[in-house]
Amino acid sequence: MQFINLHTHHFSNSEEVIEVVNQYPWEFSYEIPQYSIGIHPWYISQERLLDDLKMISEKMISEKCLALGECGLDKRIEMPLQMQTEVFQQQLELVQQTTKPIILHCVAAYQEVIGIKKEMDIENPMIIHGFSKNEQVAKSLLDNGFYLSFGKYLLRNPDLEKVFKFVPNDLLFLETDTIEESIAEVYQKAANYKNRTLEEMKQQVFNTFSEVFNWNN
Ligand SMILES: [Zn+2]
Repeated sequence: MQFINLHTHHFSNSEEVIEVVNQYPWEFSYEIPQYSIGIHPWYISQERLLDDLKMISEKMISEKCLALGECGLDKRIEMPLQMQTEVFQQQLELVQQTTKPIILHCVAAYQEVIGIKKEMDIENPMIIHGFSKNEQVAKSLLDNGFYLSFGKYLLRNPDLEKVFKFVPNDLLFLETDTIEESIAEVYQKAANYKNRTLEEMKQQVFNTFSEVFNWNN
């Protein structure tokens, strides 16, 4: 049974892991077998925007492209929220022509993201990556059909144990994002918190991945 790494910026090329490697349209690598692609709100560039969106729309129909993202909204940066929202929605329009999931970067903008999901009537699975908030935020996202992915803060913040236990097993993913620790370490921590064996945890996430990503390799 392979590990699933829902979101990473580092392609490890390991046979033990199926990883969704984050790619940016402006520095795309053809070496990466499975990836997500999107415009992160931190890196929106008006000059490049049309090229970036064109690249994303081309990649959306590629089998190697597993998801849109990371993309989303971040209220703790200087990039105006209005511009972030426009670029986010332009990307969502592209993914809506497919059944591919969306990997979301969301900082202090959960209500806005929930609002956009409803307003645009998005049926693609939406996964909040790097989740680190409380049970109340988790519940509101889960009630609105989101999946939650955990990694860095699961290892770093003991307070997250409670919320992690609260999230139903079939609505969660695990990831390394930019941290140094291995995906195996994240799974071990998750298995401990959920009172499962490592194998059970791997099987669980694999099943969710198969369903959400239409994966039948
Ligand atoms: Zn990331």
